[in-house]
Amino acid sequence: MSKTIAEFRNVSFRYDEEQPWVLKNVSFTIRENEWVAIIGHNGSGKSTIAKLMNGLLFPEEGEIFIDGLAVNEETVWDVRRNVGMVFQNPDNQFVGTTVQDDVAFGMENRGFPREQMIQRIKETLHAVRMDKYLLTEPHRLSGGQKQRVAIASVLAISPQILILDEATAMLDPKGRKEIMETVSEVQRTQELSLITITHDLHEVVQAERVIVMNEGQIWKEGTPREIFLEKEALRQIGLDVPFVTLLANELNKHGLQIADEPLN
Ligand code: ADP
Repeated sequence: MSKTIAEFRNVSFRYDEEQPWVLKNVSFTIRENEWVAIIGHNGSGKSTIAKLMNGLLFPEEGEIFIDGLAVNEETVWDVRRNVGMVFQNPDNQFVGTTVQDDVAFGMENRGFPREQMIQRIKETLHAVRMDKYLLTEPHRLSGGQKQRVAIASVLAISPQILILDEATAMLDPKGRKEIMETVSEVQRTQELSLITITHDLHEVVQAERVIVMNEGQIWKEGTPREIFLEKEALRQIGLDVPFVTLLANELNKHGLQIADEPLN
């Protein structure tokens, strides 16, 4: 069994004492090199989990550990170096005037030596297949390309955990496909745990494990297959199983199997 890299232990959080709990008693672990999808309808608490995980917020109750380190105001810089995040809007994530400046930015802030920076820029842009765009100005890129550069910028500082928070939500179908291909390649080739937050079940099938959030609590955890088999219950909490999966299941029921493992 691989090592635990992140742990939420009975975490409760609210944005304001006057407001209701946004997360209530949430516990889960993420293992090294594991791909976990967190799903749930809008407002179920997914982004709040991501922000707690990299110390943008702190729990009101319970504890969070990243690589064995309790997340608090003293450890927050180590935690942030270890937990990289890519957000929804590709246009809000650029700070550099060229792709290579952008990838360099996080490393510069952390005092990486110049030689290592040059090497990491090459390696990470190669990992997301953007090596040809080193000197391109970000505004010339498509949404999918921008998100790939955002992923490279995070990979450059070698985090142990990469969180994609609805990173495909603002992309067209081509951009989404591009990102999902990039993400699965990154997960295969880089040593890191991947957390994809989405309300689109199409993006969940490739994950090893799925955590389903509902109203600030974990509703269910399991493999994609186990989760998809609960389709009626998923509908009741506002999630729809992808049409293709339903179709594959229907065909299977009628003995017209279209693949051995239609859910993978
Ligand atoms: P999700 O990512 O699943 O859509 P969020 O974690 O963004 O859910 O939000 C969970 C709940 O917290 C929602 O009810 C949302 O309105 C509330 N919320 C999110 N951000 C803030 C904030 N900055 N201040 C107050 N309430 C917030």
